[in-house]
Amino acid sequence: DAGGDVQDVVVIGGGPGGYVAAIKGAQLGMKVTCVEGRGTLGGTCLNVGCIPSKALLHASHLFHDANHTMAKHGITVGEVSIDVGKMMAQKSKSVEGLTKGIEGLFKKNKVTYVKGWGSLTSKPGEVSVAAADGTTVTINAKNVILATGSEPASLPGVDVDEKQVVTSTGALDLAEVPKRMVVIGGGVIGLELGSVWSRLGSAVTVVEFGKDICPPMDGQVRKTFQRALKKQGFDFKMQKKVTAAKKQKDGSILLTVEPSAGGEAEFLEADVVLVSTGRKPYTTNLGLADAGVEVNGKGQVVVDMHTYKTNKDGVYAIGDIVEGPMLAHKAEEEGISCVEQLAGKSGHVNYDVIPSIVYTHPEVAWCGKTEEELKAAGTEYNVGTFPFAANSRARTNDDSEGLVKFVSCKHTDKILGAHIVGPAAGELLAECVLAMEYGASTEDIARTCHGHPTLSEAVKEAALATGGKAIHF
Ligand code: FAD
Repeated sequence: DAGGDVQDVVVIGGGPGGYVAAIKGAQLGMKVTCVEGRGTLGGTCLNVGCIPSKALLHASHLFHDANHTMAKHGITVGEVSIDVGKMMAQKSKSVEGLTKGIEGLFKKNKVTYVKGWGSLTSKPGEVSVAAADGTTVTINAKNVILATGSEPASLPGVDVDEKQVVTSTGALDLAEVPKRMVVIGGGVIGLELGSVWSRLGSAVTVVEFGKDICPPMDGQVRKTFQRALKKQGFDFKMQKKVTAAKKQKDGSILLTVEPSAGGEAEFLEADVVLVSTGRKPYTTNLGLADAGVEVNGKGQVVVDMHTYKTNKDGVYAIGDIVEGPMLAHKAEEEGISCVEQLAGKSGHVNYDVIPSIVYTHPEVAWCGKTEEELKAAGTEYNVGTFPFAANSRARTNDDSEGLVKFVSCKHTDKILGAHIVGPAAGELLAECVLAMEYGASTEDIARTCHGHPTLSEAVKEAALATGGKAIHF
């Protein structure tokens, strides 16, 4: 236990930002305690986010393949059915294994794990923890890192019950496949979870307020992506807003849908409605007001984005509760940089090179600037694309929808953006991210020998196309 000793660092929140900061801090020789209230470590990401969603995306992809793609390879599987309960059990097993794994990592690295809800008090360096059994523990710390993450944003007129009108948390735990699902919000979470249920048989309609899904995705990539989703059966209602949701006598939900700018309403029926209109920082009962920690209009804790210092000495904040993309890997990098600096070392997060990935099929992955952003900024650039239809591995897998695209500086060829829509886009992007972190040019990638036949050759060819011509297209 934290044992009354003054801790070098107390981290409040055991998500990817918090638990990574705790482990790294201990590795750097500091005495670290991590306070987490939900009963398991791993935060949103492991419990109700990245990990369970990818488990269901994988399972539903297998189902879809068995139903639709195996036959043409000569594999007959008979009638394919889905046992949603079993699929959920398998998902829970991977979540449990991974969250327990973090407890193991805490032990290995000598991080003290305190179960309970932590809050700052008016006394500097004091953290009060309310345990589940009603007791309160006080921990004293030289430094406190707030890493309490985020929660789903609500939508006026739409009351969530997590059974029929659900946030992502409920959509990861449905008991059966809904016949009709309406997804409110065409962002990453809505499209991933919409894909899960669409593959399993739901008719999915996406209602999106804006004119584009998933901003700031590169326009050319988005077009390919949205076309693919439409082919899979997604129905998009763009520039529309849901203003009310009412349960009907037959048990279904009736949604009132209006043009975003206002106008005549239409009505949509659904068996399950997923509200995925964004997330907001979670700082409930954290004692920010008592401690005098500054929060901005969006509810984010205000920090210096290099040191992660708040306006109060010894209080830091990282991850989803501060500005920037709400992503697990962004939270982790901030956690590492924050404790490195606390340990007297230098730490740095390069916000220009943070990957974004949509784990649908095809996947979409990008890093850096889009072509539209460069145009708007008046930057002179080269562009190169290569379609997976011309990549031998994608063709042998019969999975060749999509493309790789680079944008680079017209004068130096330094890579400014990498955009991929296609099979394994998220994994393929890693090479581009590394190149960008090293300040590489597309020529650097084009001159690097890539294994054959691999999907990664499409990355090389797109790099070749940026400076001149691809070989295979
Ligand atoms: P969190 O993970 O939210 O962790 C904060 C933790 O703090 C929670 O466990 C909470 O219980 C705890 N806590 C809060 N207040 C207190 C308190 N007072 N005392 C003690 N404990 C407290 N990101 C990706 O990068 N890739 C993905 O594929 C991806 N998929 C996602 C899918 C879904 C459905 C969702 C909802 C999110 C997804 N995300 C994904 C986003 C990702 O989950 C978050 O960006 C990430 O978890 C943020 O990490 P964090 O450490 O800042 O906060």
